[in-house]
Amino acid sequence: MIAAAALALLLTAGAPQDGRSEPLLRLVYLARHQGENGAWGAFPASCTCPTPPAKPPPEVRVDEAVQAKVAAFIEALGAEAIDERERAQAGILEIGLPAASQLERAARGADAERAGRARELHARITHVRDTDGFEATGLALLAFMAAGYSHLSRDEYADPGDGARVLRFGETVKRGLKWILAAQDGQGCFDPKDPVANAVATLAMVEVYGMTGSMHFKDPAERGAAFVAKATSDGVRFAVWKGMVLHSALTADVPAGSKEAITTVGDALALKEGTLALSGAFLLKSWATGQKDKKLLGELETFAPSRLAGEELQFATAAVFRSGDPADLRWKDWTARVREQIVVPASRRIVRGCLADAKAPKTAGEHIREVANDSLSVMIIYRSGNHFAAQR
Ligand SMILES: [Zn+2]
Repeated sequence: MIAAAALALLLTAGAPQDGRSEPLLRLVYLARHQGENGAWGAFPASCTCPTPPAKPPPEVRVDEAVQAKVAAFIEALGAEAIDERERAQAGILEIGLPAASQLERAARGADAERAGRARELHARITHVRDTDGFEATGLALLAFMAAGYSHLSRDEYADPGDGARVLRFGETVKRGLKWILAAQDGQGCFDPKDPVANAVATLAMVEVYGMTGSMHFKDPAERGAAFVAKATSDGVRFAVWKGMVLHSALTADVPAGSKEAITTVGDALALKEGTLALSGAFLLKSWATGQKDKKLLGELETFAPSRLAGEELQFATAAVFRSGDPADLRWKDWTARVREQIVVPASRRIVRGCLADAKAPKTAGEHIREVANDSLSVMIIYRSGNHFAAQR
């Protein structure tokens, strides 16, 4: 992921500042769905994205005393005083699953603030994994940076779901980075529970340092990258993201990044199966050696974007882009398909800053990762010579 500072200008030049133009649509979505603490991974108030159908009610019958307690807490979610709201939130989280069905009803209530908070709590209790935070937050930050935005950006957009609110992308990025930074431990690790999420968060830190050269991020980026470089974990996803961290570190002059380390990860990935492993192997080996691995090139030929989504599509797009000349037919065909899959539906799918299609309701973290990955795929194509503009 190479930061392109000039791209932000390209994206906004001549575009209306209402945030509804492509590809701002997705970045506005992300900015709007950032939590008050700076992290991504939970539904904010005023969100109308589809959520998964509620899980079947818990086996245990919820007795009346608990029901009354939950009802009082839900009532207090609409309170003016923050501490009163926080007490209610903590109380509901402590009760957990038995509060789910009441929260679900409250999420459909008329009071938008209270409904939004009930919805967020319902998602946290029933669906959202606690590791969504670092991966979703890292990916969202990478989406902004890939489009050229950093904590230094001054761009402002109206929130399409809340006319009174202004989204400041520089602030969005700054708050996200701050949240990640605050979690870093003495060893340089951000998320000790999830090596993939930790690698994604680390990549965001190394990217912002490489992109802006800001000394504020030098030490966290160096310690973070050193931790990831030493970390071992089975699994293709971890290896791919670790390789990205090492490559970003090399580009940013962060010590953990070396061609040898990148090649080692690339070679290991080349022995695995699947689109993600092969895309990662091809990218890493070609970055480290400057050579395009012929065997892997043959594998890339067999990829079809219509069978891919999210992270796989993002890495496959990067690999296909890296594999050939943007003018060749293969690449043109690929960009056309990605355009059909991601760009064209986006204006129908994202309405007033939220996802409108209810076909595949997901958890907040899954929505964020999907939108961020789509944004990253589209950015790879934009950076390659703006083929979309030519096709319009
Ligand atoms: Zn939403």
